[in-house]
Amino acid sequence: MTFDYNAPSPMRQKPPRLALVMPCYNEEEILESTISHVTNFYTECMNEKLISTDSYLLLVDDGSKDKTWEIIYNQSQTSSLNIIGLKLSRNKGHQTALLAGLEAANNYDVIVSMDADLQDDIQTIKEMVSCWKNGFDVVYGVRGDRTSDTFFKRETAHFFYRLMLFMGVNLISNHADFRMMDKRALDALLEYPERNLFLRGLVPLIGFQSTTVKYARLERTAGETKYPISRMLSLAVEGITSFSVTPLRFISLSGLIISLFSFLMIPYALFGKINGHTVPGWASVTIAIFFMGGVQMLSLGIIGEYIGKIYLETKRRPRYHIEKYTTLDRFL
Ligand code: UDP
Ligand code: MG
Repeated sequence: MTFDYNAPSPMRQKPPRLALVMPCYNEEEILESTISHVTNFYTECMNEKLISTDSYLLLVDDGSKDKTWEIIYNQSQTSSLNIIGLKLSRNKGHQTALLAGLEAANNYDVIVSMDADLQDDIQTIKEMVSCWKNGFDVVYGVRGDRTSDTFFKRETAHFFYRLMLFMGVNLISNHADFRMMDKRALDALLEYPERNLFLRGLVPLIGFQSTTVKYARLERTAGETKYPISRMLSLAVEGITSFSVTPLRFISLSGLIISLFSFLMIPYALFGKINGHTVPGWASVTIAIFFMGGVQMLSLGIIGEYIGKIYLETKRRPRYHIEKYTTLDRFL
């Protein structure tokens, strides 16, 4: 008898317990409408027997300064939807807030992460669940149509993916943090202890059966982006320096090229000396000093970036602290 390893497991035939994890930072303008959308969506899915009735929405308040926590708390008490909220002790950034939510959600069958502004089409989750039923452990949401993003955002994102690829980092193109993982994939992800978090780079490293589903990215309906250009840049630096040592190799390579070039300068200098043209060399010497100074400072900066990473990792500080939950029973 042959065993078909790819056949959907019988375990995956009954509707899974779904946890939808959303990090929220100053989202008071949009949160109530998000919750009502999720409520409708969950009701629809439960009626279609796509997800189990004890599925949850998990909201992580990333140290917001507005009424986000009040909304989360009130909704968790009054909404017909099962909501658990947890509040981080301070703002830790999107990636860490998401991780906090994922860690709290690791006893569900399938866990979907998505942004609180619902820019990623929530209906895609149905497709993700059916991929899971067909045996996939990780399903990446991929933005097929980004026309709703600004030209600037689209182009910088495109440049970023190309740059990462060039640096040898394996990323799913046009995938941000809208993805589904099942319990064992999430357990594997949670074994990665790093403090410098770049989740979309880590998830492909865990392996397992994975696939992608396409969706059109929508516009943010209220509030504004919490990812200004400075945060986007630091996410890009984080992604590159956490996953690739190519910049260090560039330093060695440029060092090699400059050394070779300076060997060529030796006969030139000697020739000038012999012919008595020593004074006119001022410009070339000045240029060389400035150029070398620049290259060295930049190289030190890049190496420093890596040393900084090691420094932060060796401290092994906790990644976040949870200030409070909306419920006493944290792991409903
Ligand atoms: N976010 C967060 N902490 C932060 C910044 C953002 O939890 O410090 C959340 C935010 O509430 C949202 C998600 O991360 O749910 C993505 O942010 P946003 O929609 O502003 O980013 P964009 O879609 O513009 O890239
Ligand atoms: Mg958004």
